[in-house]
Amino acid sequence: MPELPEVETVMQGLRTRLEGRRITHAEVRRADLRWPFPPNLAQRLAGARVNGFRRRGKYILMRLDGGDSVLIHLGMSGRMILSPARPNAVTAHEHMVMETEEGWHVGFVDPRRFGSVDLIRTDAEDAHKLLTGMGPEPLDAAFSPEALSAALSGKRTPIKAALLDQGIVAGLGNSYVCEALFRAGISPRRLAHTVTGARARRLVPEIKATLREAIAAGGSSLRDYVQTNGELGYFQHAWKVYGREGEPCPTCPDQPACAGIQRITQSGRSTFFCPRTQR
Ligand SMILES: [Zn+2]
Repeated sequence: MPELPEVETVMQGLRTRLEGRRITHAEVRRADLRWPFPPNLAQRLAGARVNGFRRRGKYILMRLDGGDSVLIHLGMSGRMILSPARPNAVTAHEHMVMETEEGWHVGFVDPRRFGSVDLIRTDAEDAHKLLTGMGPEPLDAAFSPEALSAALSGKRTPIKAALLDQGIVAGLGNSYVCEALFRAGISPRRLAHTVTGARARRLVPEIKATLREAIAAGGSSLRDYVQTNGELGYFQHAWKVYGREGEPCPTCPDQPACAGIQRITQSGRSTFFCPRTQR
């Protein structure tokens, strides 16, 4: 599933080919993904110039010169594919395409159709039902240790679950939460309201660093954020604990007291952690 750093790199890839460009042709090839496509989407896109992009959580907002924003969510399996010309054959599961005046072809491919596309006014982006109530962006200065402590105040859920709550902080997925808690030495089982003071001051920078490192890795491993097959974004990761149950713990490989990376289930999701160092 594309997480915040993937969404950020997909957006940067779109930016390289679409920002400042005019869309000459757009096509929607089915009525819906997770929700119906806006009925007038193709008409609104055709002829519009792309003014710029914004990411909010795991959503991409593509702003058009007419005052519309296209809200894109990649869902579980959504991908953006870029090619310098219209492909000879139709790509499977390519449900929406856009073409620029330079001839670039941008396709939204989504086999499982959990993605979504909506059309909203740029001046009312944050009022959209999917964006309203979203917590601060984790990479913004507004997401500070003090702000996190305040948001967690009174929360008796485990910190792991609280960080996945999009109302507390936007766009964090399971793998990044596991990694940041490990790096901050905080137990995923710790009650959220106790993550204050020094713990919050350790956790917030590790959340930011985990995301920033992934975004940087995506940017450096791809040319203009595009893979050789034309796919946008970055999906390779070197996790310290995520998916590593039973492997030696990176913090305490020679400690008999550490039995290696453990996996537990919290709110139906796997959590990976070191019970010795994460308290
Ligand atoms: Zn350990």
